[in-house]
Amino acid sequence: MKNISFLSPPRITTTDYIIIGGGLAGCMLAWMLHTRGKRFLLLDTPHKSNASRISAGIINPITGKRFSPFWDSQSVMESALKAYSTLERQFGKTFLREITALRLFTDTEERDLWFSKRASTLTFAEYLPQESISGDIRQQHGGIRYGAWHLDVEQLVRTLRTWLEAEGCLRNETYNSESTIFSSESVIVETETECFSAQHIIFANGWKTLETSLWKDLPLSPAKGELLTVQAERVPEEMLVHGVFVLPLDNSTLRIGASYSWEELDDTPTPNTASALIAQAQEIFPVPMTLLRHDAGVRPAAQDSKPILGVHPVEPRCAVFNGFGSKGAVYTPYCAEALVDFFEEAKPLAAWCALTRWKAWRGSAEF
Ligand SMILES: Cc1cc2nc3c(=O)[nH]c(=O)nc-3n(C[C@H](O)[C@H](O)[C@H](O)COP(=O)(O)OP(=O)(O)OC[C@H]3O[C@@H](n4cnc5c(N)ncnc54)[C@H](O)[C@@H]3O)c2cc1C
Repeated sequence: MKNISFLSPPRITTTDYIIIGGGLAGCMLAWMLHTRGKRFLLLDTPHKSNASRISAGIINPITGKRFSPFWDSQSVMESALKAYSTLERQFGKTFLREITALRLFTDTEERDLWFSKRASTLTFAEYLPQESISGDIRQQHGGIRYGAWHLDVEQLVRTLRTWLEAEGCLRNETYNSESTIFSSESVIVETETECFSAQHIIFANGWKTLETSLWKDLPLSPAKGELLTVQAERVPEEMLVHGVFVLPLDNSTLRIGASYSWEELDDTPTPNTASALIAQAQEIFPVPMTLLRHDAGVRPAAQDSKPILGVHPVEPRCAVFNGFGSKGAVYTPYCAEALVDFFEEAKPLAAWCALTRWKAWRGSAEF
């Protein structure tokens, strides 16, 4: 291979940034760089990981057993709404829709926890006693109703990829660590057919970042998730949340998800998980359901469930844009803006999402 490239050296394309990975993270980062007039090339092999192609795209302002809001929720949500509405205007498509969520309490303990928390941060949710909830829905302890959003991640990523291709900024290439040379002036990446030179290389390749030698110890805890699309005789008026979510897509179609597994990290759907998800959905919404589509993917979750942004402690030209876990839809716009500000305006990254929150990842390169 070396001899061939010596005889006919590959064309060198010079750019500002090389992005590895064209899922939601890489595409949003590319778009953000474009809005700042920067040049970039995105290298992506779509089949290496599936998360963005199958994501449920729900932006849920309170999640988990403890009703946790997401980090820096006001700034993060403002960035998401601004970015998605700009994208909708730019491409003349609808990506984000507002929905309402009805979260049902699992027991009286959970209901009490809710009451102890609502006075502080969660004032936007309305308490619904058991008797005020429609008889179509099975529950015993009441619940809360609040506003949420549904991002059509699949359509957004497809649209951004088509645009990037038309702009000549997307290459269907697999990155491998051996192909990279770092120097004090630039980073050079050689692929089968081309050679790229840039100021920075940013790894936005989801959980597969762990296959890259420089990032193999990144504190990720990837979690496999499975998601169903089913046809149902009736659908609820709003998204139901009760361990699983049951999201109406139209008058007869529901999305049900999502499972979590930290073993067998692959994109293969399993029949047992499909049955379990349907059973959980029917516990609260007991109507006959027929499976239409069953997907699986691996969430690039950080060990502390927050995004990870920053430069490598040893290679300052190498950065990471990762850890979006189960909240890529809400976090990627804010984080893309933060990383571009970091490089272009020397603005420090917020401590909660900076790679340097782990001592082992602090180096002289970080601000
Ligand atoms: C079942 C399920 C349900 C989910 N539901 C929600 C939800 O409701 N709301 C929400 O906000 N989030 C949800 N998520 C999470 C969301 O999908 C992720 O946060 C987001 O998609 C992560 O995007 P990413 O670009 O970081 O990673 P990915 O989507 O994995 O993209 C990485 C890209 O890099 C490519 N790549 C990898 N290695 C290489 C290489 N060496 N060379 C070239 N290309 C490479 C991959 O092929 C892929 O195209 C869900 C995820 C799953 C699995």
